[in-house]
Amino acid sequence: MSTGGLIEKGAVALVHRAAGLTMALAPARKEQVQTVARVVAVRDLGTATRRLTIAADTLRTFERSGPDEYVGLLMPERGARLVMPADRPDPRAAVAAMPEGERPALRWYTIRAHRPEAGEIDVDVVRHGDSGPGSAWACRVGVGDEVGVRSAGSVYAGWRPGDAAAVDRVQLLVADETALPAVCAIQEWLGNGPGRPVSLVHVEVPSVETVGVESIPAGALVHERGDAAPGSAVLDVLAQEPIPGLGYAWICGEGSMVAAARRHVMRGHGLDRRRISHSGYWRLGRPRP
Ligand SMILES: Cc1cc2nc3c(=O)[nH]c(=O)nc-3n(C[C@H](O)[C@H](O)[C@H](O)COP(=O)(O)OP(=O)(O)OC[C@H]3O[C@@H](n4cnc5c(N)ncnc54)[C@H](O)[C@@H]3O)c2cc1C
Repeated sequence: MSTGGLIEKGAVALVHRAAGLTMALAPARKEQVQTVARVVAVRDLGTATRRLTIAADTLRTFERSGPDEYVGLLMPERGARLVMPADRPDPRAAVAAMPEGERPALRWYTIRAHRPEAGEIDVDVVRHGDSGPGSAWACRVGVGDEVGVRSAGSVYAGWRPGDAAAVDRVQLLVADETALPAVCAIQEWLGNGPGRPVSLVHVEVPSVETVGVESIPAGALVHERGDAAPGSAVLDVLAQEPIPGLGYAWICGEGSMVAAARRHVMRGHGLDRRRISHSGYWRLGRPRP
């Protein structure tokens, strides 16, 4: 998934038209959004997953271009004040150009919910202690703290099922704990009407307790892996289970799990690679570049 540039009107319209859905089109965003925001609520959904509500006036006019759109959070180091990077098309380069003592960390999180009337978004962050700046910040953040928000993506490049959104085609959604917010948001986008396409949702989490029941998408098949490596609970199931009518797959989460799941879906279920959207959200044992 891309992280710079402008949203193109045509591409956004395509997502909606191809999906055959009736909800209003999201208007194109001509400019990237970069703003100082404030954390206005912090709530633990599970022992690891923490929901942060983030508010800024700019978020009143922000419009999502797809259900699993994500934002960059610019997070100051412990004890430091937030200094924002220059508002340039490549946010990573803008952060890298800052003096070391001022440089915030930049990490990407899905917009779980957007309430334009309040100028608020929710992000659900999986905490893993102090082993990365994103998690460390989420562990210590409090109400009133400043955070930078940076819109992501040039052309929306997440969930885009095309004609697989027809009711007779099955969409397969595979996610780990970091991609649960995206799956929940996709389900909300699809709605509950009679024309809703069929989706088969497999989620792999360390345990339901770590993410919290509220994080689990409705109707999902949940695979708990405990302390084992990502993929160890869901990959065998994917390899073995027949999926008649499979038309599209969306696979997001830890990089090795995503790569292996994608292989199963292509080789085992014969799905064309162009009908798969996938993203390695994080990599076990490696910090985000
Ligand atoms: C499009 C997109 C959407 C995303 N949406 C979300 C979201 O909604 N919620 C969310 O929590 N994450 C989400 N992520 C993943 C998140 O950006 C990464 O997990 C990120 O690496 C966390 O940064 P960090 O500073 O905590 O750790 P890093 O500095 O990146 O890594 C440091 C160490 O922590 C490990 N690590 C990183 N993430 C995890 C994890 N989740 N569990 C255990 N160990 C980890 C790494 O393997 C590494 O060893 C998304 C990523 C992308 C690309």
